[in-house]
Amino acid sequence: MSKLFKMVILGSPGSGKGTISSRIVRDFGLKHMSSGDILRSQVLKRTDVGQEAEKYMKAGKLVPDETMVKLISSELSALKTSNWLLDGFPRTRPQAEALDQHEKGKDDVTGEPLVQREDDKAESVRRRLEYYAANTGPLKKFYEEQGLLECFHGTMSNEIYPRVHKYLQTYIPAHGGPF
Ligand code: AMP
Repeated sequence: MSKLFKMVILGSPGSGKGTISSRIVRDFGLKHMSSGDILRSQVLKRTDVGQEAEKYMKAGKLVPDETMVKLISSELSALKTSNWLLDGFPRTRPQAEALDQHEKGKDDVTGEPLVQREDDKAESVRRRLEYYAANTGPLKKFYEEQGLLECFHGTMSNEIYPRVHKYLQTYIPAHGGPF
């Protein structure tokens, strides 16, 4: 089987991660897995995980690592033979370590900081940024130490994405893009 491409996209709330993710998925044919979308679907289906997660999501808190790792591991197991892009997971170091365990011995390419849906309430945005600084920001170092971090900076997705596209093309053929 040819080499598989597995990417993680990290970024603070509001940084454009969702937009960049959807363009990567469009141009490079990866499966897009958003932990927020997976959780929201569990909440809608009223599963046990959904009911537990909802409490944390409503409070603007992170769902406990153990729950997230179980949920995402089982979703990833179904994507064993696909190229994928993980969006919103990992968000903490224990989650990143669990993902490393899950993927041991396989190739990974890590994306950069970029974001997710907007959240309109200032208080909620502030809390999310605090969580990001305390939990997710340090993951950059975790991936950098493994030589797996590539950062892209800019103020607009249209400015950032062509750089992401150019970089990814060195690893995986593009079907289209970069706009
Ligand atoms: P998102 O759509 O990525 O902003 O996720 C919405 C909410 O789901 C977050 O505010 C968290 O409560 C929860 N969530 C999503 N991904 C994770 C994760 N990797 N770890 C913990 N909680 C998460």
